[in-house]
Amino acid sequence: MGNIIDGKAYAAALREEVKKGVQEIRSVHGVSPGLAVILVGNDPASEVYVASKGKMCREAGMEAFDFRLPADTTESQLIAKITEMNKDKKVNGILVQLPLPKHIHENAVINAIDPQKDVDGLHTINTGRLATGQEGMIPCTPLGCLILLKHVLGDMSGKHAVIVGRSNLVGKPMAQLLLRENCTVTVCHSHTKNLAEICRQADILVAATGKAELITGEWVKNDAVVIDVGINRIRLSDDTTKLVGDVAFAEARQRVKAITPVPGGVGPMTIACLLANTLKAACLQNKIQSNNLINI
Ligand code: NAD
Repeated sequence: MGNIIDGKAYAAALREEVKKGVQEIRSVHGVSPGLAVILVGNDPASEVYVASKGKMCREAGMEAFDFRLPADTTESQLIAKITEMNKDKKVNGILVQLPLPKHIHENAVINAIDPQKDVDGLHTINTGRLATGQEGMIPCTPLGCLILLKHVLGDMSGKHAVIVGRSNLVGKPMAQLLLRENCTVTVCHSHTKNLAEICRQADILVAATGKAELITGEWVKNDAVVIDVGINRIRLSDDTTKLVGDVAFAEARQRVKAITPVPGGVGPMTIACLLANTLKAACLQNKIQSNNLINI
C-alpha cells in the first residue's frame, strides 16, 4: 500500500515559510507584498477560490485586494483595470481568475499583466522563460506538484514522467518543469492512443484531465509516484456528491510508492505556491534578496 502525500501539511509548511519571508521584507525593507485578484462574473466555484486566496494571503501577512467585476465587463474594461494594477506599487501580484466569460479573450487579458506581476505564470514571456530555462514566474499548480515530487523522490533524473493533459495551466508547464529535472517526459492528451499502456510505463504519473477516475489501478506501474491534479464532483445519490480526482485512488494506492489524495493533495499546494510567487514578485520588484523564496 503506497504512502499518501499529505499536500495539506506540505502546503501549511510552505505558507509558514512565506509568512516568515513577508515578515522579513516588511521589517527589514519596509515592503508589504500585495496580491490583487480579479474575478469577472459570479461563477460559484470561482467565488470560493477567490475568497480562499484572499484569506490565505491575509493569514500570510500580505495585502489582498479583491476586485469583483460584473459578467458583462468588456475586454477593454478588464484590461484597463489590469493596467491600473500594473502601475500600483502596493500591488506586486495580479491574478485574473479563470475561466473568463466567453466574450473575453483569455490570452489578451493575461498578456496585459506586467510579467513581473504575473503570479500565475501564464504570460507569454513567463511561459517562454520556462521553456528556455530562464528565471521567471512558474504556474502555481505545476510548481506545487513539483515541490511534492521533490519531497517524495528527491533527484528525478532519468525517470520516465507521464503527464496526462496538455493544458497551458497544468500539463504543458508541468512537462517543462520535469524536463528541467532531467526526466524523460511523455505528454498525453485526449487524442493519445494506448493511453493505459503509456501510463503503465510511468515512474512519475501526473494526471490533469478533469475526467473523474479516468486512470484505474491497472494503469499504474508498481512503485510509481502519482500526482492527481484533477478535481471532479461526482454524484453518489440524488442529494450526495463527492470530490474525486482523475485517478481511482483506492485501486491505484495498492500499487504505488506514493499518491496525492483529492481533496488534500495538489489543491492546497496551488494556493501556497500563489503566495510564494507573490513574495517572489515583491522581492524582484524591490530588488530584495530573501532566504525565504522557493529555490526550485
Ligand atoms: P483542461 O480542460 O484545460 O485540460 C484537460 C486536458 O486533459 C486536455 O489537454 C485534454 O486533452 C486532456 N484530456 C481530457 N480527456 C482526456 C482523456 N480521456 N484522455 C487523455 N487526456 C484527456 O483542464 P486543466 O485546466 O488542465 O485542469 C485539469 C483538471 O485539473 C481539472 O479537473 C481541474 O479542475 C483540475 N485543476 C486542479 C487544480 C488544483 O489546484 N488542484 C488547478 C488547476 C486545475
